[in-house]
Formats: sequence, structure tokens, C-alpha cells
Amino acid sequence: MSQPDVEGHRSNGTTPDSVTNGRTTIDVDGLEVVYSDGTAAVQGVDMTVPEGEFFGFLGPNGAGKTTSIKVFATLLSPTSGEVLVNGFDARSEAHKIRETIGYMAQETSIDPELTAEENIRFACEAYGVSRGDRDGRVDELLDLVDLADVADKRAEGFSGGMKKRLDAATALVHQPPLVFLDEPTTGLDPKARNRLWEYFQRINDLGTTIFLTTQYLEEADQLCDRLAVLLDGQIVADGSPDDLKRQVGGDVLDIELEGGGAERERAMTIAQTFDAFGDATVTETDEGVSVTSERARQHGTDLLVALRDAELTVTGFNIRAPTLDDVFLAITGEKPDSEPDSNTAEVSQ
Ligand code: ATP
Repeated sequence: MSQPDVEGHRSNGTTPDSVTNGRTTIDVDGLEVVYSDGTAAVQGVDMTVPEGEFFGFLGPNGAGKTTSIKVFATLLSPTSGEVLVNGFDARSEAHKIRETIGYMAQETSIDPELTAEENIRFACEAYGVSRGDRDGRVDELLDLVDLADVADKRAEGFSGGMKKRLDAATALVHQPPLVFLDEPTTGLDPKARNRLWEYFQRINDLGTTIFLTTQYLEEADQLCDRLAVLLDGQIVADGSPDDLKRQVGGDVLDIELEGGGAERERAMTIAQTFDAFGDATVTETDEGVSVTSERARQHGTDLLVALRDAELTVTGFNIRAPTLDDVFLAITGEKPDSEPDSNTAEVSQ
């Protein structure tokens, strides 16, 4: 698989200069990570993230996102390659990197026995925030993550969303210029997720560079200036969300069909050989088929007529611009994870 160079806004113009000052916070060259059992989790990643950017690392389960973020946060040593974070070398200057980053792991690291305020104070001590600064920092962070009104409540009674917000606050006590967020909203319901998004956006607006990993395409679309898609340990696409959508090529015609698999297969064959669409991508969906083509808007109704002539019953159709889901499907051949089930998701505040 080819290895595109993810060279930031300077080469592809996707990140406005106004959000960066031209400096680089993450600079990775030829990163490889092989676990002791021989699993090659990261296989030659090159990337640069400029200061101030909201950068997203997207990919299915097992793509190598957590492994990469652990290397950048100096929790794991690279097998080979060069990794500079905030100008420091991940192998020889790990302690300097740790002083200048915040890291929010997939599992929250807050102490449920402590109150919200105590958790943040504890983090202040752990990160060496001076005594004189602590009171102000605690109040500021409680406000920022909207937990001031439950400052004296123990974290054990908090919802999943509140725990995540508190965890994020503890990762920020030392005011790091760069924050790593590893799938921060997995398992949260949409309302709790939205509140976290607002909060991440706020810290990015204040100048913090954010490196986010996520399986949720809507999250990447809403938040990120730029994305890289990771698959089997390699970057297979990169660009702004809009760039990636443009790469899909054209618009998407979703067609709902009566009947089952046999009808869908016939419809797919007709769409694949439909001359007016030129180079189209046809996929089966739960309801029927989806056709992506530069000429979907122009000739969509002609295809519907062709399906009717073949005695297939179209029960509905829609022509739309591509989403990141379509990008993900085109690149990885997999449908992205869906939204969490509202019955099993954590309850938001
Ligand atoms: P997820 O979304 O599931 O967290 P991911 O994109 O973060 O996935 P990683 O957790 O980095 O992916 O895993 C990449 C590959 O490395 C997978 O094949 C995984 O099974 C493997 N892997 C992860 N940790 C270890 C380990 N400690 N030892 C061996 N293999 C590992």
C-alpha cells in the first residue's frame, strides 16, 4: 500500500494559517511499532501536526491508533523511526515530552473516592503546579468543563460524560500546549458527547493543539481541521474533512428497493453497467443500493427508470453529497461504527 506523506497545512493548504503559528508539535518519520508477539501495529507512518491544529486520527478497531498515540505520549517505545513531540525526541527526551503534553486515555484515570475538586487538586500536585497557582487553576478548570456546581461531590456518583469531562480537566492542569485524546467519547450518549465536543473546541480555540483518535466520523467531521485515516498500521488517506469527501468523487444516490438480496444483486448489476454513470461505485445497503458517481445528479432518474424497466420496485431514493461515512467505506471497505445504542450508553448529565 502506498504511504502518502501527511505534511500538514504547509503542503496541502487544508489548515488555515490563522489557527497555527507555523510551528510543528508532532513530527513523525517512518514510525514502526512491532509488539513482542510479532504484531506489526504501526507500519511506516510519516506525519506532521502543526501547532494549534485540531488533528484527527481515524480508523477501524485495531488500525493502530492507540499504539501510535502511546508512542507520542512516550508510554511505548517505537521499534523504529523518528518521533519529535513539542521539539523533543520520544526516545531520549521522554520526560520533557511528558511535561509538555496532556494525555486522556481510553479509560478514565480519576479517583472515584475523591470529589471533582480533589481530583483536579491531586492532578495539580502530580504535575507540579505551584501552590500559589492551584486554587485559580482548579476553579478555572471546573468552570471550563462545567463541573463547578458539583465540585464537592464524589466522582463515583457522576455519569459517564461527567467522568470524562473531569478526566479531561485533570489532563490539563499544567496547561500543556498539546493534548492527546484517545477515543474520548466512546460509549457516551449523543448529549454527553456533544458537551465534550464543546469543551474540546473551547480548549482548541484557546490555542491548545489537539490530537484526537476516534472511530466516530461525525466527531471527526465536526471537530477536526485535518484528518488521517489509518488502516492496518498505515496512513491511507489524509486531508481536511471536505478534501476527503471530494476524493469520494461525485454525489451519492441512495435507492430503497422492495424485496431481498436477489433484488439488490440485480439492481447492483444494473447500476454497475449503467453507461451514463461512467466510473461509479456501487454498494449494497440495508435498504437497497447506493451509487456514487460524478453524474449521479444528472442521470439519477435515468437509473431509476432502468430499474423499473427491469421490474424492480423502487420504494424511495435520495441524492446527497458524500459524508465521511462514504469516505470510510470507500477507503476501508468497512462501515464505520454506528452511534452508541441509547439503551446501553452512559447517561449524560
Ligand atoms: P481500537 O480502536 O480497538 O483501540 P486501535 O486503532 O487503537 O484500535 P491498537 O490498539 O493500536 O489499534 O492495535 C493495533 C494492533 O496491535 C491490533 O492488531 C492489536 O490487536 C495489536 N495490539 C495492541 N496492543 C497490543 C499488545 N500489547 N500486544 C500485542 N498486540 C497488540
